[in-house]
Amino acid sequence: MQVPAPFEYARAATVDEAIGLLERLGPEARLVAGGHSLLPMMKLRLATPEHLIDINPLESELGYIRDEGGEIHIGALTRHREVLDSELLAERFPIIRDAELLIADPPVRNRGTVGGALCQADPSEDLSAVFAALGARAVIRGRDGERDIDMVEFHQGPYETAVGDAEMLVEVRVPVREHHGSAYEKVKRRTGDWATAAAGAALWLDGPNIAAAGIALSAVNPHGVRSTRAEEAVIGGPPSEEAFAEAARLAAEDCDPIGDQRGPADYKRHLARELTQRALRGATERALAT
Ligand SMILES: Cc1cc2nc3c(=O)[nH]c(=O)nc-3n(C[C@H](O)[C@H](O)[C@H](O)COP(=O)(O)OP(=O)(O)OC[C@H]3O[C@@H](n4cnc5c(N)ncnc54)[C@H](O)[C@@H]3O)c2cc1C
Repeated sequence: MQVPAPFEYARAATVDEAIGLLERLGPEARLVAGGHSLLPMMKLRLATPEHLIDINPLESELGYIRDEGGEIHIGALTRHREVLDSELLAERFPIIRDAELLIADPPVRNRGTVGGALCQADPSEDLSAVFAALGARAVIRGRDGERDIDMVEFHQGPYETAVGDAEMLVEVRVPVREHHGSAYEKVKRRTGDWATAAAGAALWLDGPNIAAAGIALSAVNPHGVRSTRAEEAVIGGPPSEEAFAEAARLAAEDCDPIGDQRGPADYKRHLARELTQRALRGATERALAT
């Protein structure tokens, strides 16, 4: 079935109006941003919302990348292309451009948004792993105000997030700390495809030692992208091949891939190990260069 079920269409002019519409129209209403995830699901009738609330008019309110001193703030309606093109993000967090270069293709990146990608919560989505590795926080707004939560809490399961009824994601906040390096490694079958497996690593150095680390994987877990055991294996000591190999082993041990058309579970687990190690090497090179 390639035709969506009938739905009512509304355009929100402000965030408050979008939240008001969500509240008034109830759980059968869905926001639509770039539409790259939601519309295909509607065509296949995997999603049958009765109301679509178009939030594209909110671009001036929610489409931004701002340096707020100790944090970079990214609005939920920022398009993948804007994230990819941002020199500020590339300079501060190279992992973001690494990942964006490998997400989908230009037409999807031109319309698809950060908020849509995170709220779709596809287990193979890339930005969730990137933001988890960077220790980012998601800002969710409802009628009673805002709350911010970390990316581990944000993802509650495949296609499930902490965004409640009559709430929306408005921003992602990424903390800025010095002596940072980060990298993202992904294997996919062809250009434009989703990950077979992917791994992101972020490191912060204090002198010769790794003071903090974030390691997160994509496409190898139903949900829950971060590998804290792998992070602990590298924190406290200097960067070394031995520490990276141990972290990669733990990351692979912790993941729970399923076999599908992109490959058997064992192959994905092997990729998780290899890609974690490569991402750690890349992050270290960049941290040492800063
Ligand atoms: C061919 C193809 C290949 C792709 N490859 C990749 C890939 O390699 N890696 C990857 O990570 N992604 C990939 N994607 C996914 C793509 O990046 C996402 O579909 C897109 O970014 C989703 O954003 P959107 O703005 O289109 O979301 P929409 O489709 O508009 O919305 C998706 C969901 O999020 C909800 N939503 C949107 N914005 C908000 C908000 N602010 N607050 C609360 N809920 C909200 C909607 O209600 C809906 O449920 C691919 C998609 C396609 C079509």
